[in-house]
Amino acid sequence: HAKALGKNNHQYFDSELERSSNQQLQVENHLREAIGNDEFHLNYQPKIDLKSNAIIGFEALLRWNRAGGMNTPDIFIPVAEQTGLINEIGDWVLKQVCSDVKKWLELGYGLLPVAINVSPVEFRNKKLVEQIKATIIEYGIPPEAIEIEITESLFLDNISFVKEILKDLRDFGISVAVDDFGTGYSSLQYLHELPIDILKIDKSFILDLSNQPHNAAIADSIINLAHNLGLKVVAEGIENQASMSFLKHRGCDIGQGFFMYKPMRSEELMELIV
Ligand code: C2E
Ligand code: MG
Ligand code: MG
Ligand code: MG
Repeated sequence: HAKALGKNNHQYFDSELERSSNQQLQVENHLREAIGNDEFHLNYQPKIDLKSNAIIGFEALLRWNRAGGMNTPDIFIPVAEQTGLINEIGDWVLKQVCSDVKKWLELGYGLLPVAINVSPVEFRNKKLVEQIKATIIEYGIPPEAIEIEITESLFLDNISFVKEILKDLRDFGISVAVDDFGTGYSSLQYLHELPIDILKIDKSFILDLSNQPHNAAIADSIINLAHNLGLKVVAEGIENQASMSFLKHRGCDIGQGFFMYKPMRSEELMELIV
């Protein structure tokens, strides 16, 4: 790289650009086939009540069973968003979650809500709420079994429209969490104007919390902010005992991270919740 960056500066960047747009095109082409070819599955990551250590719900995380380095969500979700394929994928995710929840309920497991990540792009679909309600009704599961996770970037869109949608979902029984909180652009004003239930502290503040005093200060402030606004607060990315102890001590309600549980297949999860 050092050499390429020297004299052939332009050439380096051009080919770099070409490589990444080729990769993007390849991901896009493969993504188009993925649903039809049954290449997706969901992993579920447990969330625990930090007071009792009991599992109180899960987050559904999409996995793509295609070999190669492009199949992590951080790479293919943005491509799905840019191409609009996220609508079809989001629909698949919701149906799969409803179908799994239905199965767990039929097997006699207690109701543990599943959080689904919904991209801001999906909110541009005027029928989103209607589709979510229809799917939940079709599978015959209680709406309280579903939570949605949105990101602060959604607040940059037409805010009164977003408010209306979230209110509609909430009236139906679905709770709303703001994911990756602290990394986006949200004005604090929105937090009490919008119908939301939960703040999820971004994992960048949590991962190495015990060695980074400023991250600990931010996490602590978000916990207080949430509680002062009457919201629940979740910390994601808990990787060690030190982070967990700190968060428990500071009154964080819910925790999620590799230290407790990694994301897992539905079959594994069922063994866990017997
Ligand atoms: P997210 O919603 O913030 O999800 C949490 C991410 O943190 C997941 O990454 C999870 O595996 C990871 N994680 C959980 N605990 C730990 C930990 O202790 N340490 C570390 N280092 N990581 C932890 P994942 O599954 O790779 O997903 C990345 C992102 O992709 C998600 O971030 C979400 O924004 C997006 N995504 C995943 N599934 C979906 C989906 O079905 N629909 C949409 N629209 N986006 C999705
Ligand atoms: Mg999430
Ligand atoms: Mg997150
Ligand atoms: Mg995210």
